[in-house]
Amino acid sequence: MDTHDGIEQRLNEFFEENMAALALESGHSLSPEVKETARQQVLMYWRKLRDIAERVTDTEVRLSLPQQQSPGGRTFAIEGIVDIVREDERVVMYDIKTHDTAAIEANIEDYERQLNVYAHIWQNLRGQRLDETAVICTQLPEALRQAATVRDERRIERELARWEPVIPIPFEPEHVTETVREFGEVVDQIEGGCFTPPDLITLQVRLPGTTRTFASEICRRCDARFSCASYRAYAHAASQGAEVRFREYFDDFGDDTEQSERVAAGLGE
Ligand code: SF4
Repeated sequence: MDTHDGIEQRLNEFFEENMAALALESGHSLSPEVKETARQQVLMYWRKLRDIAERVTDTEVRLSLPQQQSPGGRTFAIEGIVDIVREDERVVMYDIKTHDTAAIEANIEDYERQLNVYAHIWQNLRGQRLDETAVICTQLPEALRQAATVRDERRIERELARWEPVIPIPFEPEHVTETVREFGEVVDQIEGGCFTPPDLITLQVRLPGTTRTFASEICRRCDARFSCASYRAYAHAASQGAEVRFREYFDDFGDDTEQSERVAAGLGE
């Protein structure tokens, strides 16, 4: 059996192999800082969730709900990927999210709905047993991220103990029909070319569970912001009409990590 250090060494090797493969595929390499942040995230995730990771019996299970009808009569499918742990007659489904715990807890209904659709597919369409569902948040809390960056083992242990990345989600089958209908409404809006952005007030309001506004969390990463009337109004209001400050909003492409994430996401599909 591998020792703790032995496993982390193997994870480091896998990480390097994956990074090399990604660089070959995409023609882009991550900056050393971004790569180190990603490595620490993998290692912290392993240390905290080792217990679950070792018990996963079905990884990346693709669940599909095909042939759904939108309110506008369009046919669409819902797909998702989950991990399953089967143990002592109990089956638990995990949905892994890259968001932070506070943001998930503050918007728990959204996550409940999505996971409930997956649970419905697993239990009712596939006829599989299911006892529990939960979301796993992979984003490290800021205090843990800082401790990992400076490799302060005592702080890491303390922050790891505080971190609660597994959030149990109740299975509410009666919400599934409504959730599928809401997906259908979004499909109709997309197919109908209805892309009206939210109003200025929405952009200025803090997102539940975070210290960030819709504009700083979502618009800042949106390539459409250069031609978005709502974002223009937001930038204008925030810069109080000063031309130099106004331009800062449109010239802000995020830090190295965010830019690399965008490049990787754009090349991923
Ligand atoms: S900038 Fe993008 S995310 Fe923000 S409101 Fe406009 S279209 Fe939506």
